[in-house]
Amino acid sequence: MVIETISNYIDLMTFEKALKDNDKKLLVSIPKIDIHNHAVSSCTKSYLKKQGIKLSEEKIDNISSLIEFSRTYLTPLQLDYNGLKILLKGNFENCIKTGVNIVSTEIDYKNCIRTFNSDVNKFINFLKSFKYKNLKILWDLGISRDSYKEEYKSIILELLNTKFFSGIDLTSTENSVPNSKFIDFYKLDNDLGIITKVHAGEQLGADYIKKCINDFKPKMIQHGIHIVENESIMKLAKSKGIIFNVCPTSNVTLGYAPSIKKHPIKKMVEYGLNVTIGTDDLLFFDSDINDEYIKLYKEGTLSIEQLKVIKDFGLNLFK
Ligand SMILES: [Zn+2]
Repeated sequence: MVIETISNYIDLMTFEKALKDNDKKLLVSIPKIDIHNHAVSSCTKSYLKKQGIKLSEEKIDNISSLIEFSRTYLTPLQLDYNGLKILLKGNFENCIKTGVNIVSTEIDYKNCIRTFNSDVNKFINFLKSFKYKNLKILWDLGISRDSYKEEYKSIILELLNTKFFSGIDLTSTENSVPNSKFIDFYKLDNDLGIITKVHAGEQLGADYIKKCINDFKPKMIQHGIHIVENESIMKLAKSKGIIFNVCPTSNVTLGYAPSIKKHPIKKMVEYGLNVTIGTDDLLFFDSDINDEYIKLYKEGTLSIEQLKVIKDFGLNLFK
């Protein structure tokens, strides 16, 4: 107990020094987790450039420019086995470089259909081939609402039933498809022992978060920042112990939060919601996990103690 207290104190001092001195090197040396990471859009542009892949330098500052960028550059890259490999390798090498030692990352089931001709074993063996000594990779099966078709249900179930995936994550445009289409996947959580995540409350308001809580009973909500608009829904989420994986730079860049300083994460933490900090899509937002912590500290959004609680809470989830 005494040893634990001393080691916790030393950790806090190191974390404080790193943030106060804006010492990114020291911050990198501190273990961190990223639970909100999209596998194919989380490497850096400079990494891709080194691989001979040039992308547009156009600024992404809203959801339509992000979708346009993805369609033009990322989708064609992912169709090719080597292109997909480069995107994933770039993500994981960047995790290691930035001191992320556990990443819970989302890959869409369509990658299995498009790149591996629906061969579930080949797809999973490909994912398994990403092994690193200093990085634990937890794969979530992503289900994009926008492109979902009923005919894909069987392959999603086949993928989930392999029990390779640690979780599922419902992504893209909130409420573009009725929740009822996806409820069956979420009902499997106990059988499969998976972590259920859903993107909600980034684009839409607190009512949609409530709807997703009731429909999916998720363990985690990706973003969920608009929950601060409604205290009774915050109370509901708190009572259920739901974890919010928040990505401040992503929210500000896409116009869903006014600034880092005024980011809803402050209110979420003060209310006592379970929060972790993630990067979302590093390729679009150019802000790694250390940048996120530094920005939240520098802008006075959260204190060092609050940021340390967030960091440790995330790490302890997967110990
Ligand atoms: Zn996301």
